[in-house]
Amino acid sequence: MFRAFLIKYAEIGVKGKNRHLFEDALVHQIKVSLKRCDGKFFVHKTQGRIFVEAEGEFDFDETVGCLRQVFGISGICPVVYAEDEGFEKLAERVVDYVDKVYPDKNKTFKVNARRARKDYPKESMEINADLGEVLLNAYPEMTVDVHNPDIMLSVEIREKIYIYSEIIPGPGGMPVGTGGKAMLLLSGGIDSPVAGYMIAKRGVKIDAVYFHAPPYTSERAKQKVVDLARIVARYTGPIYLHVINFTDVQLHIYETCPHDELTIIMRRYMMRIAESIARDRDCMALITGESIGQVASQTMQSLAATDAVCGMPVFRPLIAMDKQEIIAESQKIGTYETSILPFEDCCTIFVAKHPVTKPKLSQIEESEKLLAEKMPPLVAEALESVQIIQIGKGR
Ligand code: ATP
Ligand code: MG
Repeated sequence: MFRAFLIKYAEIGVKGKNRHLFEDALVHQIKVSLKRCDGKFFVHKTQGRIFVEAEGEFDFDETVGCLRQVFGISGICPVVYAEDEGFEKLAERVVDYVDKVYPDKNKTFKVNARRARKDYPKESMEINADLGEVLLNAYPEMTVDVHNPDIMLSVEIREKIYIYSEIIPGPGGMPVGTGGKAMLLLSGGIDSPVAGYMIAKRGVKIDAVYFHAPPYTSERAKQKVVDLARIVARYTGPIYLHVINFTDVQLHIYETCPHDELTIIMRRYMMRIAESIARDRDCMALITGESIGQVASQTMQSLAATDAVCGMPVFRPLIAMDKQEIIAESQKIGTYETSILPFEDCCTIFVAKHPVTKPKLSQIEESEKLLAEKMPPLVAEALESVQIIQIGKGR
């Protein structure tokens, strides 16, 4: 019976001049997300409301599923709409709506009419009272409760008339595209996809970089990262995934530097290369899935040593989260099952038995001097090796 949805969005940060930017970005992201659904949809904005109307056949659950992945949406209201054919007809429709949506009539309700078209003959208060009376007559079990009703029945009088009462929660956040762009360091693990999701939720568009080390990491490991990017892209919209061949950089570090410093030096090179790509792509920040103390390379000292090579902000949204919390989040967004597939990533091959947990920046910089001669061309080659995979359509 539902053929349309009213999209509710949080008003925070969307007042004044920026409001239409927010709304336009939201409309765009809704259209991108609905491309994954069967059916054609008309997405439009009228007087501070966004409506999604199905044109022809569509799958209700699938459509709601897609809408629930659009950041900026706080609620999705399935709507019944009709032409304005007079109050009698409207009353009939409202009675019919309540009958279909609430088979159990033992409920309290309130009618919340909104007259967005001032040429309608009744005022909002009058519509509330009159429709309330019609419902009470039709369903004697129902009672009015204006403070805390079970059913808040909204009736909006516009070009058409919209009737709705259910709100399906959306993900919240801001529409992707309202907050600039950032480069996600995406590995095959549990953490980084969640980190990308969280930053994108604040309206930031995402590109990604993956450091691949063939033959030490397999094609399967790379495919896993592509699969993860595809899941993240359901929320963020299309992602350009940059795959960098990192093998020679890594081998050179392995052959040249003290082994207890391998991870930290390798991470510093990842950050340098990621930042270089980020600048080319107009990204304003890097994103990683690091969390304080999770592993040796994520102690305060290690994070400081990694940050020291970065000339742009590094966002670490998981920094204060426990592993269990991160896992719960990855299960919620749907990346967990893919993340735990057992393909090695490049960090697990070149790991020292006893990595430093409190690296001294001066010591690390000293070790990196050993790389001064041969590393620059290897980094240049790594950058040239980039393979760009477009994940998702519609950008
Ligand atoms: P994750 O669970 O995200 O794989 P991790 O537990 O393996 O992280 P680290 O190996 O210390 O932790 O990596 C920390 C962060 O560095 C990751 O969250 C990710 O952002 C980035 N990173 C690690 N390895 C790679 C890689 N091969 N390519 C791109 N980014 C990487
Ligand atoms: Mg981790």
